[in-house]
Amino acid sequence: MQRWHTLAAHYNNKYGCRVQKIPLDAGACCPNRDGTLSHDGCIFCNANGSGSGRAKRGHSLLQQWNALRAVYLRDDPNTRFVAYLQSFSNTYGPQKRLQQLLQSVRSLPQCFGVAVGTRPDCLDAPKLDTLAALDCDLWLELGLQTAHNQTLSRINRGHTAAQAEKAVCMAAERGIAVCAHLMAGLPGEDERHFLQSLDWALALPIQGLKLHNVFVPKGTALASLYAAGIYHPLWRDEYVDMLCAALPRIPSSLVIHRLQSDPAPRELVAPTWATDKRGLLGDLRRALVARDLWQGKSCDSPEGCPAIFLGAGGVSAGF
Ligand code: SF4
Repeated sequence: MQRWHTLAAHYNNKYGCRVQKIPLDAGACCPNRDGTLSHDGCIFCNANGSGSGRAKRGHSLLQQWNALRAVYLRDDPNTRFVAYLQSFSNTYGPQKRLQQLLQSVRSLPQCFGVAVGTRPDCLDAPKLDTLAALDCDLWLELGLQTAHNQTLSRINRGHTAAQAEKAVCMAAERGIAVCAHLMAGLPGEDERHFLQSLDWALALPIQGLKLHNVFVPKGTALASLYAAGIYHPLWRDEYVDMLCAALPRIPSSLVIHRLQSDPAPRELVAPTWATDKRGLLGDLRRALVARDLWQGKSCDSPEGCPAIFLGAGGVSAGF
């Protein structure tokens, strides 16, 4: 039995087919790296800005798109595709740049939807209006990370929780579906902080959640803290316990885009378990079954897992 509401199930329920996100690096930048706020970036950010770095290596959007699209079409020729602008802060910079970027992305062959990753402080009313005017399936993926200003400052995030709240509300006012990103295991935080951040995000008008375990990438300030013994990432069991505590308090209608980080093995310092994504989800499933838990159990679905978790036709819709 599927115990949480996956993005795959959401798309399957909504469109009756498989929808695949294709991560793209549009060569964006970030105010927390270009000197506007800082040159250092968030302490867990590496030179690729949480992305693939393909733009820097000269790969165009179309090349990146076609390479992955061909792979997925081999698996299932009926797959639809969502362009995921992942690396750095894709709404940073002039309004015109965002308009042109969205135009380029929408014109990619078979592009059916767009997911835009950004920071809360890189949005204003005109940019949100531009996003809201897109004629396709749209998710705004906002890095909120934590509700705690002290942590935001500790990780050199460069924005406050109040700025995050404002961005979410302004997007929701325009009918934009917001997927909030939160991190578990941030320096100075424990499960209590993580659950407080979760409750804070759930009180905002969001429609999706992406939960990440903090990992230590090479060449980051966090890697220096780790090497000095000042920071240690979560143990695998600790993170599974945190997810078991988190999922029951998340309303079942909320779409869970992801429950773990996705480090490239070559960039990972610690923890080594972070690359075993399927293994972690297997552990989580077993823990949820053993503890008789599921998404929404403590709020809107105390009786059992809703059918929407399975996707249209009752077929399990993957991760
Ligand atoms: S907001 Fe994103 S791209 Fe910018 S410094 Fe932080 S992690 Fe890196």
